[in-house]
Amino acid sequence: MPDFDTYELDAHEEVYIKCDKKTGLQSIICVHNSSNGPALGGCRFISYDSSQNALVDALKLSRSMSFKAVLAGVPYGGGKAVILKPEQPFDRQLLFKSFGNFVNQLGGRYITTMDSGMVTKDLEIISNQTSYLTGLGIDGNPAPYTAEGVIRGIEAALNFKYGTSKMSGIHIAIQGVGNVGFFLGKKAYERGAKLTICDYDPLMVNKCLKEFTASVVSPNDIYSIECDVFAPCGLGGTINPETISKLKATIIAGSANNQLSDDTVSEIIKKRNILYAPDYVINAGGLIHVAGLYSNMLKSQIESKIAAIYGTLMEIFISSERLGKSTNAVADEIASSYFQNSEA
Ligand code: NAD
Repeated sequence: MPDFDTYELDAHEEVYIKCDKKTGLQSIICVHNSSNGPALGGCRFISYDSSQNALVDALKLSRSMSFKAVLAGVPYGGGKAVILKPEQPFDRQLLFKSFGNFVNQLGGRYITTMDSGMVTKDLEIISNQTSYLTGLGIDGNPAPYTAEGVIRGIEAALNFKYGTSKMSGIHIAIQGVGNVGFFLGKKAYERGAKLTICDYDPLMVNKCLKEFTASVVSPNDIYSIECDVFAPCGLGGTINPETISKLKATIIAGSANNQLSDDTVSEIIKKRNILYAPDYVINAGGLIHVAGLYSNMLKSQIESKIAAIYGTLMEIFISSERLGKSTNAVADEIASSYFQNSEA
């Protein structure tokens, strides 16, 4: 049984669970903190080993969303939904309709959007049941914006480590080339980076090879590639003591949420002199985009907030060096101080 306290169950404002026997929907919505605005975050639609693991995932992700929104300067709180992908055959239309009703029942306390495992059609079905959603339409996919933010983050890390943010000739190993990893590879390639990619799904790898040149390795071999930047863009949790010991990269900077297996890992990364760009800071581009769509922000405002990820990370890197703390600890302290001040 997971220890829910570790994931700050009591720090969450609200946790909702819906089980709809008719459609097979089993879903959890977590609202971590709404002092910055209504909770906004995507809905994951993946298989979980157990409902406990689904709850832990939702708790960790919604907490990250609160921190992400604060550091990205968007007026929203942290929330996240998960739907446990049914093991039995199911009607996708009815399942997402039921989820849309669930979101609507919360009256705007939680605003949903797409996350891993969902497709645009699912969001369209949800939109027939509730207006508390964002990311719909031709420009709705947050992945290119998340990738743009990751590019800005890699540039900041390169500048901090090597005194230049130029990506030309830099070798980046991308773990997972789904929605975000694909756009990250494309953008990095356009900037002259050398790429190594991997994915469990060969279709994703082939899609990349049609757009840009990259070496391909197996998911097991990606850690030990001789490269400058390791970019985790899969499902998270892949940075642990064992994988760190294999890394040749001097920078970890990717889109995955909850990249570190636990908080102690950030100290190991620091001891190995690897520069880690905290996940919820570097991957905020998608949130900035969907929050901007929901608030009718100008395109130029969205772009400048995404570009600002560079400066935010640079400040974290500098403070981390000055204070002798891990980058993760510094980012957490900045975000936590915001919530402490708003409670005071
Ligand atoms: P996705 O499901 O489209 O793609 C993930 C890909 O990674 C899949 O193709 C999967 O097969 C592959 N994968 C997973 N684990 C892997 C591993 N260990 N080795 C190799 N391949 C692996 O998801 P996405 O939308 O691209 O998101 C990727 C990550 O970034 C997730 O952690 C997500 O929560 C996070 N994120 C995404 C966005 C966004 O805009 N989509 C925004 C912020 C954070």
